[in-house]
Amino acid sequence: MNIILLGPPGAGKGTQARYLVETRGMVQLSTGDMLREAKTSGTDMGKKVAAIMDAGKLVTDEIVIGLIEEKLTTETGAGFIFDGFPRTLAQADALAALLAKLGQSLHTVIEMRVDDDALVDRITARSTCSGCGEVYNDKTKPIPADGRCTNCGEQKEFTRRADDNEDSLRTRLMEYYKKTSPLIGYYYAKGDLRPVNGLADISEVTASIEAVLG
Ligand code: AMP
Repeated sequence: MNIILLGPPGAGKGTQARYLVETRGMVQLSTGDMLREAKTSGTDMGKKVAAIMDAGKLVTDEIVIGLIEEKLTTETGAGFIFDGFPRTLAQADALAALLAKLGQSLHTVIEMRVDDDALVDRITARSTCSGCGEVYNDKTKPIPADGRCTNCGEQKEFTRRADDNEDSLRTRLMEYYKKTSPLIGYYYAKGDLRPVNGLADISEVTASIEAVLG
């Protein structure tokens, strides 16, 4: 079963993807994570995309399609969760072609619906455990006083993303509405789209996703 988690930055795609990895043994393919890794390890590609990512713009289709193609042929599990990919119509077409080449298909596209105010609140207050990726929020889920992650139990660093600031968030939202939101119509027309309310509590969103996946 291969699924896409579709939604603007801060919709909760990563949080829900991690849950599906843990409970269903699926493989999370986050192009954002792959690009951040390339940036941190200082590869040529990482250097090329660093400024684009920090500004909140989309990197080229060619780069992300290449990253996904490589993972599709090397990773195995109980299906792929595409998180933050596809983000353009060209990426969506490329994904369909890649899956077809592997004799696979897309099961469903979960659209995580949230409003912009909630996104700004979530993103500007967000930090992540560098050990396990658990997401914290300064207001609703602060980092524990003892510095120990509630998920993995480790005392790792809690990091904030370079692009989680108001300026770059404004650009990321604009990129989403201009280039990614057309995918909602694209997958609706294909009969693949299943909307869930991304504003609910994390566990309620999880339950809605479970209900869609069956
Ligand atoms: P994310 O972690 O999904 O919010 O992605 C962080 C940043 O990585 C985005 O703002 C883009 O600069 C870049 N990025 C991630 N996925 C894609 C994609 N599918 N297409 C183009 N750029 C992407």
